[in-house]
Amino acid sequence: MLDFALTEEQLEIQKTVREFAVKEVFPASWYYDEKDEIPLFVLKRAFELGIMSGDIPGKYGGKGYGLVESAIATEEIAAACPGLSTSIFVSSLGMEPILLCDNEPAKEKYLTRFAREFTPVCFATSEPVMGSDVAGIQCLARKDGDGYVLNGTKFWITNGGVADYMTVFATVDPKEAHAGIGAFLVEKGWQGVSTSPPIPKMGQRCSNTAGIHLKDVRVPAENVLAEPGKGFVLAMKTFSRTRPIIGAFAVGAARSAMEFAIDYAKKRRAFGSKLANFEAIQFKIAEMYQKVETSRLLVYKSAWEADSGIDPTLTASMAKFYATESAFEVANEALQIFGGFGYTKMFPLEKILRDVRLLMIYEGTSEVQRMIVAGYALQNYRPVMPALEDLPMIRGIDLDPEKSQAGKTAWRCRMCGHTHYGQEPPEACPLCFFPAKAFKKVWPLDTSAAAGNE
Ligand SMILES: Cc1cc2nc3c(=O)[nH]c(=O)nc-3n(C[C@H](O)[C@H](O)[C@H](O)COP(=O)(O)OP(=O)(O)OC[C@H]3O[C@@H](n4cnc5c(N)ncnc54)[C@H](O)[C@@H]3O)c2cc1C
Repeated sequence: MLDFALTEEQLEIQKTVREFAVKEVFPASWYYDEKDEIPLFVLKRAFELGIMSGDIPGKYGGKGYGLVESAIATEEIAAACPGLSTSIFVSSLGMEPILLCDNEPAKEKYLTRFAREFTPVCFATSEPVMGSDVAGIQCLARKDGDGYVLNGTKFWITNGGVADYMTVFATVDPKEAHAGIGAFLVEKGWQGVSTSPPIPKMGQRCSNTAGIHLKDVRVPAENVLAEPGKGFVLAMKTFSRTRPIIGAFAVGAARSAMEFAIDYAKKRRAFGSKLANFEAIQFKIAEMYQKVETSRLLVYKSAWEADSGIDPTLTASMAKFYATESAFEVANEALQIFGGFGYTKMFPLEKILRDVRLLMIYEGTSEVQRMIVAGYALQNYRPVMPALEDLPMIRGIDLDPEKSQAGKTAWRCRMCGHTHYGQEPPEACPLCFFPAKAFKKVWPLDTSAAAGNE
């Protein structure tokens, strides 16, 4: 049976995180948004409550949450502040390559530490000159004994200025593209690592975004997460597991925007009536609600696939671009319902709108997600219906089993789709004038040939 209900444990996680989000995250977010600064104490509280880094497996001392649990928790934090949600959950992004790699000693050493101590971890593929094109990484990894020496600059790195550990992707030779990329776990305290002041941003100002400069940084063999040639795949596998979570950010933010809009519409009066009584407003609210629900379903589906051992790459991309674009539309419409007040800093809509705008950019832009989905649809998708040229669109034969079918044959023109009835195809198609060889027999069905469709 298909079951959409959350388990007792999931409901408990939702309750704990929701309370923390409403009572501790939401109130703290305004001062720090204004200041453009990360409130590290909120991240520490999230760690103490087991929310941050909850996905570390039990054998390393973590809670062993699946992606569904992470999505449930993320939605709640993002409902309070998308920026703090990014800050809290970026540690999972930074840790994911460690979880996915096969360097067991690094897992033992670092994951147990991350489960035990509050230690923000960041993830660095992007550079000033490239973001979408991960194969275009320029940061260099030079072989040095059994380890590597890193030189280069990473940019846009969430928590880059506050993280103690960094998962850095670098290449032995930029000309080798995908084939040159490796992944390395770098400690901030190592010689040659420096970080920039925060990059000033439009939204998500409670999250820290910084550049990281690596000058002759020596990485010992124990900290190589993926040897050159294996790092690109590791980064892509990481994104397949973290993009559903960006979708969950979007669900939380959109849900709050909708809730605030409903509240306002039920109280604000115009033309002698409450806004909620106007059909134009009701329709906006209906569409917001629909987008929140459909986004959540896609996010859960993708997270469930990951937890069930199914490759979530496709649904992760769909969840990301659908949910994040929906969240932007929901926030925008919610702001509209607030009229002039929506545009002020006295109500939460302008911040939600600024914050959700980023969701369509990081961890692969909406365009990149469309490239992934289109690539699958055009190359790997296996259709259920017969190919167009085999379609039995038979208007000229009565298929009632009581009627005789003997000698009834239909041919379809592969050029224009015209159907011809008769034992043989016509000499030429009466519509497009293509010759007989353009016709294919579509009835009776060719039961001998494998349909080729599943
Ligand atoms: C606040 C913030 C936090 C971030 N956090 C991190 C982080 O923690 N770690 C990290 O590694 N990175 C991080 N990033 C970087 C982010 O992932 C990149 O900004 C993003 O991937 C886009 O890369 P870009 O900015 O270089 O844009 P570009 O790659 O230069 O793209 C510019 C535009 O062109 C479009 N485009 C590019 N190629 C194509 C194509 N082939 N077809 C169609 N359109 C295309 C893009 O979609 C985009 O709209 C962060 C960014 C921001 C703004």
